[in-house]
Amino acid sequence: MMKQCSVTYQTFPTRGCPYKCTYCINNIYHEMYPHQKPIRKRSVDNIIGELLEVKSKLPFIELILFNDDAFFLMSVDEIKELSKRYKERIGLPLYITGATPNTLTKEKLSPLVDAGLIEIRLGLQSAAENTKILYKRPHSNRQVENAVRIVNEYRDQLKASYDIILDSPWDTDEDLTDTLMFLSKLPTPLQLTMYSMVLYPETDVYKKAMKEGLIKDDLNDVYRKYFLGPSSTHLNKLFLLLRDYASVGIGISPIIMFILTHKITRKLYLHKFLRNVIRALLPFFRYIGQSTIPSTRLYKFRNVVKFGGGKATYQTNALNEFDMNMDLNDFHSQV
Ligand code: SF4
Repeated sequence: MMKQCSVTYQTFPTRGCPYKCTYCINNIYHEMYPHQKPIRKRSVDNIIGELLEVKSKLPFIELILFNDDAFFLMSVDEIKELSKRYKERIGLPLYITGATPNTLTKEKLSPLVDAGLIEIRLGLQSAAENTKILYKRPHSNRQVENAVRIVNEYRDQLKASYDIILDSPWDTDEDLTDTLMFLSKLPTPLQLTMYSMVLYPETDVYKKAMKEGLIKDDLNDVYRKYFLGPSSTHLNKLFLLLRDYASVGIGISPIIMFILTHKITRKLYLHKFLRNVIRALLPFFRYIGQSTIPSTRLYKFRNVVKFGGGKATYQTNALNEFDMNMDLNDFHSQV
């Protein structure tokens, strides 16, 4: 606990989110507080004032985390002003979560990277059209692709992680395959974080699941459900395999992903064999990727690496004690 406190200071330049994704807490907040402004922004003066106080009272802080839901709803002018003053007065490495792909632009990202942004986290959740409609996701796949390409332009300075939701009771194999195919086309390196869907009480997906009789026991199906560690299915294992290859800058090509996900591959019982072959080759590709692609070094787990003229960047995986990236061998040995 002390180690976490001594490294990172977490704050929120904005509060709330204008969207209502059906699995998210904001889905409920909009109903609970219909007269509240969905997004509340603090002034640049106020944010910098707080961080200056942190620097003087907590000098051991090494990383600032803006843990907003929708940080990039700040205007270009606000972000430019914040970045300028952050660089001049604060100068610590910065991590921003809550980058919704449809609000991220190069104009907004560039000054933040210049000010010390080292990691960013975006929510993708799914690329399947049916699933995005069910989740009420506010962006198109084209917007996601654009956002990933913008972020990738800064790949030597900026680590990017993308959240994916698995284990939805409504996802079909086709939906999951659509997402896998989409992810396999994205530029690497990138970090994919796989979550196992939890139907949080009173969200739209929870109500739908209740209505359809999918929740038999609130305590075990909802409250005790673990949000990390997706179930051991062939397609879920492909997500983790893709994650491991994407983080070493190699990726899995769309053609290989097409073969791995195809029904005929499964009918011929080749899917497990092929998956195991690709998994067995991972150490080799990891070695190749990390020795030839400098940006992949940012993705080493719990590591401090140097970039940009020796300036240190801190791997923010150290923020949490959970193993967000279960070892693939452990995972595969479960089945
Ligand atoms: S965009 Fe993110 S924070 Fe906003 S409602 Fe959707 S999941 Fe929640």
